[in-house]
Amino acid sequence: MTIAGGCQCGKVRFELGHPPERVSICHCRDCQKSAGAPMVAWAMVPKDDFRVTAGEARAVNSSGDSFRYFCGQCGTGLYYINETYLPGIVDVQLMTLDAPEAFTPGAQVQTAEQAPWIAHLAAIPAFQRYPGME
Ligand SMILES: [Zn+2]
Ligand SMILES: [Zn+2]
Repeated sequence: MTIAGGCQCGKVRFELGHPPERVSICHCRDCQKSAGAPMVAWAMVPKDDFRVTAGEARAVNSSGDSFRYFCGQCGTGLYYINETYLPGIVDVQLMTLDAPEAFTPGAQVQTAEQAPWIAHLAAIPAFQRYPGME
């Protein structure tokens, strides 16, 4: 079974050999800042199960031993490696998979830093498209 993914522009492509062992949503401040988004969903795979099949991701050392890999051309955040806290693991940004809907997060982590309105997300008015364009 091969699960493929990549960045928005298509320069960097990768494959997972098996479904992720764990899928989590992270609310930490580093994820928020690096993604420019309220949270990031991560799909955890053993290093041996992950391979870049096209292009080459660039890495930024975001804190401690954390390395966040991204496409140098379009900026899409792709995966994360921290050999101290997650040895032998590649944490892939779930939504960069070609079919991310196949996997459902099983946990939310680092909620101590979550945006205060996240807990009330379902109460915020929602529209299938931009209001007035539905
Ligand atoms: Zn790209
Ligand atoms: Zn995080």
